[in-house]
Amino acid sequence: MLLIQNGFKCDYEMNIFINIFFAKNEEGRITTDFIDNGTEICVKTTIEFEGKSYFGEFSLPFETCKESEKRIKKMYGVCCVRSFVLAAQKVRKISLPWGVLSGIRPAKYVRELKEEGKNKEEVSKILKDIFDVSERKTDLALKVSENEEKILKNVGKNSVSIYIGIPFCPSRCAYCSFVSTDIKVSGKYIDEFCDCLLKEIEYTGRILKQLSLSVQNIYIGGGTPTTLSAFQLEKVLDRLRKSIDFNNVSEFTVEAGRPDTITYEKIIKIKEGGADRISINPQTLNQETLDLIGRKHTVKDFYNAFSLAEKVGFKCVNTDLIAGLPGENFEMFKNSLDGILELNPQNITVHSMCIKRASKVNSEKIPLSNSELLDEMLSYAQEMLIKSGREPYYMYRQKNISGNLENVGYAKKEYFSAYNINIMEEIQTIIGLGGGGVSKIVKGDRIERIANFKEPYEYIRRFCEIIEKKDRIKELLKGKEFIL
Ligand code: SF4
Repeated sequence: MLLIQNGFKCDYEMNIFINIFFAKNEEGRITTDFIDNGTEICVKTTIEFEGKSYFGEFSLPFETCKESEKRIKKMYGVCCVRSFVLAAQKVRKISLPWGVLSGIRPAKYVRELKEEGKNKEEVSKILKDIFDVSERKTDLALKVSENEEKILKNVGKNSVSIYIGIPFCPSRCAYCSFVSTDIKVSGKYIDEFCDCLLKEIEYTGRILKQLSLSVQNIYIGGGTPTTLSAFQLEKVLDRLRKSIDFNNVSEFTVEAGRPDTITYEKIIKIKEGGADRISINPQTLNQETLDLIGRKHTVKDFYNAFSLAEKVGFKCVNTDLIAGLPGENFEMFKNSLDGILELNPQNITVHSMCIKRASKVNSEKIPLSNSELLDEMLSYAQEMLIKSGREPYYMYRQKNISGNLENVGYAKKEYFSAYNINIMEEIQTIIGLGGGGVSKIVKGDRIERIANFKEPYEYIRRFCEIIEKKDRIKELLKGKEFIL
């Protein structure tokens, strides 16, 4: 679609919504005419498509958006997108439960509004009236933000979190959008990768000591960390304990992930290594879906792994589910959610199917649930999980999530994960180690990102650069501008 914007350009925001209503190869013309007359902002959109014209118009009083330069630009963009959506919904009846709120972290926006002094009712009105967010999603965003606040106030001064990326998986899932390589391809690098990781852990530990920074949360993710052998896991966990002062660590999570990698021996090593939280992720309890998406494990494998984790006695077990997996109808999703609820894990994360360009689902065009069905699944999950005594406490959206929908972590109150919240809200520095580990050095509104190499081979071959990056992080952490 050809986009012509008169008066104000916001093609990035516009394209997010154009891609929801029109396929890449569809031809047509979208024109937005923007007028700011000092008292009102008004945008008129015309869509010319398949020989017909469709119109949309949206206006806002200037009062609504004059607070800051940044806010004015945001509101200009919102007006353009809303007027486009009003026109586009005459072409195709696609509902947008999140309206035109396009950011990755809706709860972060809620927090920003609250920090500007707005009360709950005012925030709710902004979401509904300006962004056209549905009542259910507005309630969700407000609830998540409330729960986040409880955890964020505990972020320690001079504290950081640590993330360790283990970029290996036993096979690649069809929808995968993470940093991970199939061990059939990269398994030969695991030993060398672990050797480098041990050095990176030790080096980082020294920096933290020199700067007198304490570690509050540790998260080992990937990939699938339990692709490592019990022996390799033990070495990594051991090096962590020797290099980092665990006195202030209040949360330590290992994302075991794929049930086909989990053994009693590995789980014991993880527990002995100090982790108190573990993730065991079935994604679905329907075997035919697992086969279709290339998970290469059975539903029974998941139940076995879950009961091992329970036997070993972790403080918190998380399970991930994905709504909208290829070929799944509402009943199939319901079956998975109800099955997981029977197991009663402390934490359940419900993801929306997300298609990244590189995934097999995208390249083979495996049919997905439509966004209305996906929203029905998410609404069911929200209702049942809240009824079960869990609360939504963190939430994010990714680009390409069907229907622009969300991923939400639900947990019993005392089991909210501070790491998950911190990574969304970006108010605590995270030091990233391992394959694809991204460090985020936070100072107020400013965040500096420094990323490790994703591929195991690259990580090993260019390990000197990994160490140099850690030196750069040290400089940022001790620099005047980044005193925590
Ligand atoms: S287990 Fe996770 S990281 Fe590994 S291939 Fe599957 S989706 Fe990707």
